[in-house]
Amino acid sequence: METRLRIAVQSKGRLYDETMELLGEAGIKMTTAKRTLLIPSRNFPVELLFLRDDDIPDSVASGTADIGIVGLNEVLEKNKSVNILKELGFSRCRLSLAIPQHIEYHGLSWFNNRKIATSYPVILSKFLSENGIKSDIHVITGSVEIAPGIGLADAIFDIVSSGSTLVSNNLTEVEKVLESQAVLIGAQNRKLPQEKHVILNELMFRIDAVKAADGKKYILMNVPKEKLDEVLAILPGIKSPTVLPLANTDWCSVHSVLDEKRFWEIIGKLKSAGAEGILALDIEKMIL
Ligand code: ATP
Ligand code: MG
Repeated sequence: METRLRIAVQSKGRLYDETMELLGEAGIKMTTAKRTLLIPSRNFPVELLFLRDDDIPDSVASGTADIGIVGLNEVLEKNKSVNILKELGFSRCRLSLAIPQHIEYHGLSWFNNRKIATSYPVILSKFLSENGIKSDIHVITGSVEIAPGIGLADAIFDIVSSGSTLVSNNLTEVEKVLESQAVLIGAQNRKLPQEKHVILNELMFRIDAVKAADGKKYILMNVPKEKLDEVLAILPGIKSPTVLPLANTDWCSVHSVLDEKRFWEIIGKLKSAGAEGILALDIEKMIL
């Protein structure tokens, strides 16, 4: 039987779409859209094991799966023997302490002897003990944000992304404890057999190419030759920009790669320097 690298992924939820998108952009196609528990890829030697995100760290630590894709928050909370192989850059959120809006907050000592509701008791107790705070941790698995409002707790420790859930429950974020994102994990105490190791390396190479292209634009423009030096000085480029001749020998075509964050700033400078007919294209992959 053909060797397949088994990847544990979330079966549904906030990680699912972007996990599947990343694998798709890495050229990995699945055999069926139907979500059974275990699906092989039809063009790459991997298979996906669909689990609840809570079960992903243990599935990797115990060897049920070879690697997994899960939030860093879940990895730290479950505290299993896994290594972080790569940060994937999506499902970004943070774990924070929040208290009712009307309370005046003067620092961490406020939490002494208070009751904090959370689904992340391991991360929270570590943080509190590192800071010498003693609180009463109350574990609840869902709707943590309503706990203070119904008198179940004084404060909460929970996932925050935009903060709108906090606002609608009259809570204020007072301490950011952990920045989280999706990560690729592998087992700490087990070496993959050589064949699987080769598959993992190819997968990580492809993920790097997808991530490198993220937020980058390929731009081309026409530049009068006498302005070429000025235009080239504006372009950051990967190594050096490509300059190609045009039928009209007074002009040339310049190609380069731009970071989306600085896109408008640089386009403005290029225009004032005399560049014309600027085209910007999305980059799908980039091998550095
Ligand atoms: P499961 O049924 O698999 O146990 P879940 O309900 O525990 O799912 P989700 O709400 O799907 O979990 O969130 C999965 C992960 O996505 C979280 O552990 C966190 O890493 C990340 N996440 C959660 N909320 C957000 C958010 N608002 N924005 C971005 N990422 C988030
Ligand atoms: Mg979960």
